[in-house]
Amino acid sequence: MANFGDLSRVLQEQIEKWEGKAASDSTGFVVQVGDGVATIYGLEKAVYGELVEFTSGAAGIVLNLVEDGVGCVLLSGESLVKDGDEVRGTGRVVSVPSGQSLFGRVVNPLGEPVDGKGPVKAEEYLPVESPAPSVIERGSVNTPLETGAVSVDSMIPIGRGQRELIIGDRQTGKTALAVDAIINQKGKGVYCVYCAIGQKSSSVAAIMRNLERGGALDYTFVVLATASDSAALQYLAPYSAAAMAEHFMRQGKDVLVVYDDLSKHAVAYRTISLLLRHPPGREAFPGDVFYLHSRLLERAAKLSPEKGGGSITALPIVETQAGDISSYIPTNVISITDGQVFLDSELFNSGIRPAVDVGLSVSRVGGSAQSKAMRKASGRLRLDLAQYREMKAFAQFGSDLDKATQDKLAQGERLMEILKQPQFSPYTMVQEAAVLFVSINGCLMDIPVNKIGPFIKGFLEYLEAHDAGLMESIAKTGVLSSENEQELVSAIENFKQLKQ
Ligand code: ATP
Ligand code: MG
Repeated sequence: MANFGDLSRVLQEQIEKWEGKAASDSTGFVVQVGDGVATIYGLEKAVYGELVEFTSGAAGIVLNLVEDGVGCVLLSGESLVKDGDEVRGTGRVVSVPSGQSLFGRVVNPLGEPVDGKGPVKAEEYLPVESPAPSVIERGSVNTPLETGAVSVDSMIPIGRGQRELIIGDRQTGKTALAVDAIINQKGKGVYCVYCAIGQKSSSVAAIMRNLERGGALDYTFVVLATASDSAALQYLAPYSAAAMAEHFMRQGKDVLVVYDDLSKHAVAYRTISLLLRHPPGREAFPGDVFYLHSRLLERAAKLSPEKGGGSITALPIVETQAGDISSYIPTNVISITDGQVFLDSELFNSGIRPAVDVGLSVSRVGGSAQSKAMRKASGRLRLDLAQYREMKAFAQFGSDLDKATQDKLAQGERLMEILKQPQFSPYTMVQEAAVLFVSINGCLMDIPVNKIGPFIKGFLEYLEAHDAGLMESIAKTGVLSSENEQELVSAIENFKQLKQ
């Protein structure tokens, strides 16, 4: 029989011991841990994406909410987490620091420095996941983002606020193109972020050296999750890079973010999803892999003047297998971005570098941001190159060719030559316009094909030394007037005489 005296005494004791601790719905305990994933019982109020803390000091992100528990990926201190550990919900998502002191630094996706140069000073903490700017907040893309690569700037122009995919097989110069674009932003008032996902530490070290040599570290920082970091950190990296970039965009600055590369990002997310037992779909990727990248790339935007006019330009990189752009991740990212630069391994191996395949590359919004001088000079380039490719295929049959066809072929060969550009030698917009103008108008027809490279180099140096006024006037007005054109023609004639 119940003894009411005892019961009231027990209740009394319980009430006296009560310390007013946090309600049990924001705490839980670990029931299972392994492979960087923990299953937690409790945490009834947890929300998707919430940061949770373990008693050992480890941190995790909630990525799975099911009836009998919560699944979370561990960001740090994986080896410290034990079965039965208490877990506390923080009620907020992961936030990262951003500010001027990031420039020249390498940080991990949590914003912690990994270059041993001391702490970074945060001007602001931003949530890694935040909604993209709304339609009302956006302005139209109207300023070019010059990559310095003549083939890209002329035929696949990129505007500030645009998302342009760089896609190609392995070792086709994807990273080189993006790094050159960063180096070319020197003195143009564009901040740059290089986000390395799942790469070897040695490759990232080489990229850092190149950025330093190019003098880009004053306005560039690196967000790093290497191949040896946990899948959770690799998953988080591009979102935290976007968050750090948003700080500057909201201040009215222009930012360029390179995500190198999203194929590895998707693989990291697939790992997490499989461990959390999300149902696998095509190529074993989970069903939400499209949303994974669309919500990231939507955060690239050009803000309206009322919102300060800042921008984030995104250059995501995707690796293809044997040039197959119709596999899952490439098709997804192609449909999300505003265009793609397709790098072809055959072109790369035949010495055409950057190996841009003009036929498969497009830019859907960049044209409106292109300067008039550039648009005029490049207008015929695409057409001439297309004709050249067609005739070249035909000429392989070796029949007698008429003079007009021979001329077209000779002109096409020269156009292909001017699109070749070594690494770390970007052109200014004016140089690009000048080179395109003289080559499209047949001024190079008397130069042997194998001499075109050195000839153009020499000609640009000559222009710099003798026609600085002409170059300045094109740069200022952004237009190639008929006088400018005549001056360019006479400059190249003078240069040819000089060389003889
Ligand atoms: P991965 O798939 O391994 O990431 P990737 O596509 O990023 O490769 P890069 O690492 O950029 O390719 O370049 C591959 C090699 O080609 C490098 O050694 C680089 O120096 C060289 N390379 C890239 N672009 C050019 C260029 N324009 N001129 C000469 N060499 C180049
Ligand atoms: Mg690369």
